[in-house]
Amino acid sequence: MRSELGEGPLVVAGAGYAGLTVAQEVHRRSRGALPTVLVDRHPVHVLRTELYEIGRMAAEGSRSADWIVPLAEVFDRSLVELREGEVEGIDLEARTLTLSSGEIAFGALVVALGNVAAYYGVEGAREHTHQVYRLSGALALARRLREVMLGSADLPGERRPRVLVVGGGATGTEVAAEIATTNWAAVTGRPTRPPDVFLITGSLPFLAGLPPGVVERARSLLGRAGVSLVFGLNVRRVESDRLTLEDGTTLVFDVAVWCAGLEAPPVARQLPVAHGHAGRLAVDACLELPGHPGVFAVGDVAEWKDPGDDGSVVPATAQVALAEARVAAQNVIARWNGAPLVPFRYRQRGLVVAVGPRRAAGALGPLTLWSSPAALLKRAVQREYSRAVSHGETSGVI
Ligand SMILES: Cc1cc2nc3c(=O)[nH]c(=O)nc-3n(C[C@H](O)[C@H](O)[C@H](O)COP(=O)(O)OP(=O)(O)OC[C@H]3O[C@@H](n4cnc5c(N)ncnc54)[C@H](O)[C@@H]3O)c2cc1C
Repeated sequence: MRSELGEGPLVVAGAGYAGLTVAQEVHRRSRGALPTVLVDRHPVHVLRTELYEIGRMAAEGSRSADWIVPLAEVFDRSLVELREGEVEGIDLEARTLTLSSGEIAFGALVVALGNVAAYYGVEGAREHTHQVYRLSGALALARRLREVMLGSADLPGERRPRVLVVGGGATGTEVAAEIATTNWAAVTGRPTRPPDVFLITGSLPFLAGLPPGVVERARSLLGRAGVSLVFGLNVRRVESDRLTLEDGTTLVFDVAVWCAGLEAPPVARQLPVAHGHAGRLAVDACLELPGHPGVFAVGDVAEWKDPGDDGSVVPATAQVALAEARVAAQNVIARWNGAPLVPFRYRQRGLVVAVGPRRAAGALGPLTLWSSPAALLKRAVQREYSRAVSHGETSGVI
């Protein structure tokens, strides 16, 4: 890499929505002239926005391949070098990355390492709950649910399997609805008893940050899906078969799922730079780490404050990750050419929360969409994204 950034390629750490798009965009804009290395712990891009599809995962015949796109497929006709390895450390002064597979020097760096589940010190939560933030976690949850449903017809008396989902954001809503609406008899090929599904929303407002019309529709669709909502109480402790709420109420479960929050991964939290909420890397208007020219952070790991909107923080969504990635790619090239950087600007295009496979609630501009049209829109957006990515194209949708 030339200019004031010193020797070494552009290294993109993380091949999720943000990192993959940065690598694609830099390659496209520089016509392959800017040497780029894309690092991830896995040789695949995970379609993380689809990991709530637990019923489909639990069905026989579903393979983990349905939720991934191999990176070699995405970059087969490009000069982007793929490197598999765990990022264990980042040295911003020496401009090196320590990987489980060796060290790598960078001229410019884009940190796009996403986030991890946050347990807020709740005793037993990490040990006794499942999560869908990673593909391995979602598949483990699907296996466990399949096992529980297979045995459900033999439960004593009228007892049904009980599933508790913790977290009243979009992920908790999607997971609870999916579990409640799955036809488990079809999935397991045996008679089953439908599960009782509870969504424990915690002390934050249900679907905080979403327009009131969407919240209202989602709540009504959840009711129709058979999900019971428990409002206003945080979880204090989790044991192997029960959890305790902060008012002392104990709820017994067969399966518990933690969708209560996210934080920056340890390797990002350890960096000696300014951090925002939950350890996210605080970036400037152009998505660069202040004081570290040529080092950018994008996607869930980054915290960008909107200067035109009272400094509000953009949400951790794939939509934001893709938008940031395109601007970061432009700015990497600007640094390379010694040109001025461009500020990031965010405009939300729309959002849709799935409530089972055929229902959803969402907003598109000023319009509130719900039920089947919203579900069809979500499905179309997901399909278009995975089609574009598999063909090595950058996608503006999600
Ligand atoms: C169930 C679910 C549904 C969602 N639905 C939507 C939706 O409908 N719309 C929407 O906009 N957003 C949605 N989101 C949020 C969206 O998935 C995230 O905002 C998005 O994945 C962020 O992209 P990212 O590139 O920052 O992180 P990620 O996509 O998580 O990518 C991070 C990458 O970094 C890699 N990595 C992490 N740590 C290391 C390490 N130490 N070493 C090497 N590699 C590492 C990971 O393997 C991964 O490939 C959903 C999330 C979930 C969990």
